[in-house]
Amino acid sequence: MINNYEITPIIAISKCINFAKCRYNGDGDNNEFVTRLNPFVKFIPFCPEVEIGMSTPRKPIRLVEVNKEIHLIQPATQLDLTSNMQKYTTSLMTRLINVDGFILKTRSPSCGIKEVKIYQSAKKGATSKKGRGMVGGEIINTYSHLPIEDDGRLRNFKIREHFLTKLYVMAKFKRVILSESIDNLQSFHSSNNLLMMAYNQIRLKELNKIINQADNLSFDDIVAVYEKYLAKIFRIAPRYTSNITVLLNCVEYFKKDISEEEFNFINSLVEEYRNHKVPFSVPLNVIKAYVIRFHIHYLINQSFFDPFPKELMDVNDSGKGTNNSKLFSY
Ligand code: SF4
Repeated sequence: MINNYEITPIIAISKCINFAKCRYNGDGDNNEFVTRLNPFVKFIPFCPEVEIGMSTPRKPIRLVEVNKEIHLIQPATQLDLTSNMQKYTTSLMTRLINVDGFILKTRSPSCGIKEVKIYQSAKKGATSKKGRGMVGGEIINTYSHLPIEDDGRLRNFKIREHFLTKLYVMAKFKRVILSESIDNLQSFHSSNNLLMMAYNQIRLKELNKIINQADNLSFDDIVAVYEKYLAKIFRIAPRYTSNITVLLNCVEYFKKDISEEEFNFINSLVEEYRNHKVPFSVPLNVIKAYVIRFHIHYLINQSFFDPFPKELMDVNDSGKGTNNSKLFSY
């Protein structure tokens, strides 16, 4: 199994988040999660508006629907930046081919991935609907298999946890692709088995079938199909109930070796998790302690227990109000 500390995922990030004061009004943002991530990942900051030649500060720009097409307009000057931004976006997509994930500025007409205002005209007071930014939308079209989030959504710990889990899975999978080794693919599949089970059991069965055909297909063919299904598995965060099923599965491995009191204690923690009284890490870490104590080799190697470096775990907010429909990535 590839250790979380052996890899450095690459994240492309809107430059105004922690890296430069390049917003239209000369401001930048300071995001604590990005600061915490910094020692563990390699960031590639980019600012579409500055990189197409706009100054900082600058008059704001907005998305405007003109004859059913979306344009990027600077109302104060009537400048239409659409073509410039489209050319820039095409070259950016090639530049970012090796990244493992994206953190983008919320609601920006350039970088935003959702809830970006699209106005009916460039005039003041025009009505608007919601959509994607010009660059953010293309990132979703091109890199939908990777974790893509905006800094606003990442304030929620459940969304952060899902983002980090997918980030590390996809970065490890990239390593497997580069190794061109079927053995490494099989070992990746095996060590992520419980994590994938918690995410989506039906999709996991499909991946099992693909792995079983490994001897009959070329490495390139098998990873191409595998990657497609892997992205589907990690599209939506696991439900509480699926996590509980996997936790209880793990307990079966050492149940016969512990006392009734210990077993009841573990069950009570799982129930507290089920009732949203403790975070997932509470029953998970207690079960992990038993896995270590009884040297259960198969479980020790499961990424389910450590999907990303523990230093990145931060249960700072409640995550309340986040139903599962909000926990998908693109
Ligand atoms: S949101 Fe994107 S385009 Fe706007 S300042 Fe930030 S990085 Fe630049």
